[in-house]
Amino acid sequence: MNDDRFRALPAVEVLAEQALAHAARPAVAPRPLVVEAARAVLALERAGLTADPARPPAAPADRLALVLEEAARRAKPRQERVLNGTGVVLHTNLGRAPLSEAARRALLEAAGGYVALEYDVAAGKRSERALGAEEWLVRLTGAEAALVVNNGAAALLLAVSVLAAGRKVVVSRGELVEIGGSFRLPEILKKAGATLVEVGTTNRTRADDYRRALSPEVGLLLRIHPSNFRVAGFSERPSRGELAALAKGAGIPFVEDVGSGALVDTTAFGLEREPTVLECLTEGADLVTFSGDKLLGGPQAGLIVGRREWVRKLKKDPLARALRVDKLTVAALEATLAAYVEPARAQEELPTLALLAAPAHVLKDQAERIATALSGLAGLTVSVVPEASEVGGGALPGAILPTYAVVLAAAGRSAAQLERRLRAQGPPLIARIKDDRVLVDARTLLFEDPDEIARVVAAALTGNWEVPGA
Ligand SMILES: *Cc1c(COP(=O)(O)O)cnc(C)c1O
Repeated sequence: MNDDRFRALPAVEVLAEQALAHAARPAVAPRPLVVEAARAVLALERAGLTADPARPPAAPADRLALVLEEAARRAKPRQERVLNGTGVVLHTNLGRAPLSEAARRALLEAAGGYVALEYDVAAGKRSERALGAEEWLVRLTGAEAALVVNNGAAALLLAVSVLAAGRKVVVSRGELVEIGGSFRLPEILKKAGATLVEVGTTNRTRADDYRRALSPEVGLLLRIHPSNFRVAGFSERPSRGELAALAKGAGIPFVEDVGSGALVDTTAFGLEREPTVLECLTEGADLVTFSGDKLLGGPQAGLIVGRREWVRKLKKDPLARALRVDKLTVAALEATLAAYVEPARAQEELPTLALLAAPAHVLKDQAERIATALSGLAGLTVSVVPEASEVGGGALPGAILPTYAVVLAAAGRSAAQLERRLRAQGPPLIARIKDDRVLVDARTLLFEDPDEIARVVAAALTGNWEVPGA
């Protein structure tokens, strides 16, 4: 290009060498990433010069600073720790359930060395994976047998593939759900090789609707917990007992995907009722599938409990091998399930349950501690307001938990600007905007240090507002 502005730009290698010479800490800017960053910064600058013929090239010092910033960004893990100020306890995008201390310890121990993953130490022989977690599941749910796979979607995929591939699966129209993150029931059934037979209507499905759909081609009756929405008003669906009787008569299993899968009665925490796994089984489900990292409060896993004959069939299938969990999941899951040996202990040990059950006055105290820590910051207005938080994770749809939030306003800045600046810090503080105000929910920050939050907010208020991270 015949333009002096472009000739003024340094070569990638030259720019990278200059940046490396300036890097305060080489560890945050390894050479390959600095070269990558130099290339990206130059490409962006070139595009800017092309778009605007009047624009001068950047000052060399500014360009160097950009390269170092970009290299540092690339060196940082993408999955960095964040401060969850959204109030959504089971936030799928933020990693769902925070693990208990016992689970974290077990995980760390398993990570660094060898464990008896598929080894019977007493017998000195090969054994089965996740037996300990399965024993806990049997103990806690009263099921005959249990199986652990990679996640809730995998649990359902396995059940349908093994029990109904090439056959039909009967589902109520009121349960054909899409759960956040691309879980669409009809697509999973299709992938499992089953044909979906929809019965009933969105708001009403009766046992007779299922009965009429039964034929020798039907492989299983499926009931899905409509996790993230609620059919209210004029609605009806058959009881588990009715579905169990129909399935039994047809010689096929009745499978229920309860999604979140409460092991304890959620009303004990002041929450709405969520079907417990135990009651699904007692009322007649042959197999129940649920997630490990939702209300259960453990690591990502798909849990399957129910009748021995069906669980055994699933276990023996090659697909179970493809969907198996690793030693880290097994370690964290076993420690999480062990906390349920007594409901009071579960609530005390598992952060998920503690966060969901936190009483309003405790949340108010934490909101006020955060507000106090922020009170000295210039240009910031802070107040504490009563608010409502969500459970998330497809559990307890529509449940609103009373909470307290800290409202932040920066002088002369919009809520959107402040929210973006909070996200650009290390660790990022994820807030939400409501009625053009930035809200930080005390519930999901209950175990965080108010002084750390204050440091993050202070950093967000200083620096260049035009560059989110500066
Ligand atoms: C969340 C959910 C799933 C998917 O579980 P993952 O563990 O996220 O794979 C399946 N079914 C229902 C009803 C759910 O709520």
